[in-house]
Amino acid sequence: MKDFCVVIGAGLAGATAARVLAEAGERVLIVEKLNHVAGHVRDEFDEYGVLIHAYGPHIFHTDNSEVFRFLSRFTKWHHYQHKVLSYVDGMLVPFPINRDTIAHLFGVNISTSEVKDFLKSEVKRSTFNDPPQNFEDAVISQVGERLYEKFFKNYTIKQWSRDPKELSADVAKRIPTRSNRDSRYFSDRYQGLPKFGYTKLVEKMLDHPQISVLTSCDYFEIVKDLKAKFTVYTGLLDEFFDYSHGRLEYRSLKLVFETYDEVHHQAASVVNYPNDYDWTRITEFKYMTGQKSDKTTLCYEYPLDKGEPYYVVMSDENVKKRERYMKEVAKLEETREYLFLGRLAEYKYYNMDQVVKRSIDQVSNWLKGE
Ligand code: FAD
Ligand code: UDP
Repeated sequence: MKDFCVVIGAGLAGATAARVLAEAGERVLIVEKLNHVAGHVRDEFDEYGVLIHAYGPHIFHTDNSEVFRFLSRFTKWHHYQHKVLSYVDGMLVPFPINRDTIAHLFGVNISTSEVKDFLKSEVKRSTFNDPPQNFEDAVISQVGERLYEKFFKNYTIKQWSRDPKELSADVAKRIPTRSNRDSRYFSDRYQGLPKFGYTKLVEKMLDHPQISVLTSCDYFEIVKDLKAKFTVYTGLLDEFFDYSHGRLEYRSLKLVFETYDEVHHQAASVVNYPNDYDWTRITEFKYMTGQKSDKTTLCYEYPLDKGEPYYVVMSDENVKKRERYMKEVAKLEETREYLFLGRLAEYKYYNMDQVVKRSIDQVSNWLKGE
């Protein structure tokens, strides 16, 4: 009998969709191919008792009070403002670029208004397309070529393994430039980590009498036997359509976790390495989780072409391919039997809050019959 909804994937998109459906009285089966819930925000205690993020560092940040209120029903927060240092010219300097970054790097005492003038003159002596056509143009139009080369060029080549000219200018919008001394990575109103971790948060979201969770189960292996009235899909977009428009590119990471017999090992929760080593960044989780321990675990991120799909790749070719898939998605969604949500299913470089917002909005619209 078609009296239940199925949600594929128990990450934040799936968990939010399941919860909103369940609270509206729908029966929900959530199917997850991994042997655990929480998808890419999974955290767990390692063998040394240190809380780590299994799929790389996750800091929650949003300006959206509806999203913050929704998640706050399932967790208390460890309030934390994320800060990052970048290892450039043998120095650890604040990143995103701010007044202190420029002062340290160039050994000058500089005021906020002088930083604005400095950046203007850096941009003026640089060559780029205006308006910006790609990632490289977008960064150079903000900070000029010299700072682009020190902080962005090689990190981006390492991370994406392609010429930064082939990446969308939208990727650059993730990183602000500041002329003041604000050294936070994000400037959103709400920032932090779930007090007892992301896994506990997702478990709490799924703890509802109308929700059943099936882990270690691939949707495509059981789809023929499922007769759901409504399917919310949060897996890979191209896989759903059997790659009929070709494969979309996903960028992967090798994450190497190292534990040290020290209270702290590095100077900040994240240190970026644009120009040195094969890793892009190192995260020391205790700074962000606030955990107290005499040991500390760090995560080294090495970008990879293949493997677990961590990132969508914002190149022209992928964006065009995505459009073709999204036309198929629109046809399915018109039937009101399907909804595609999340980073993988919409092939969008979403942050956590954007995924939660999309899920709340889209599922609420479906419930209203829209
Ligand atoms: P996922 O978490 O990937 O969930 C999809 C789920 O579907 C997975 O569990 C998968 O196993 C399951 N699935 C797929 N196919 C099937 C199938 N056939 N059958 C059953 N199950 C299936 N965002 C922030 O806001 N702040 C950060 O600091 C931040 N840091 C990040 C760091 C890294 C390294 C990465 C890669 C991402 C980061 N993000 C961050 C983004 C964040 O991870 C995503 O926005 C969010 O986790 C996406 O949730 P989702 O539910 O769409 O996808
Ligand atoms: N980036 C860079 N230098 C840095 C940090 C980021 O060039 O020190 C670029 C890089 O292309 C990266 C993008 O900005 O992929 C987005 O950075 P963000 O920190 O948002 O990446 P994420 O946390 O999603 O891995």
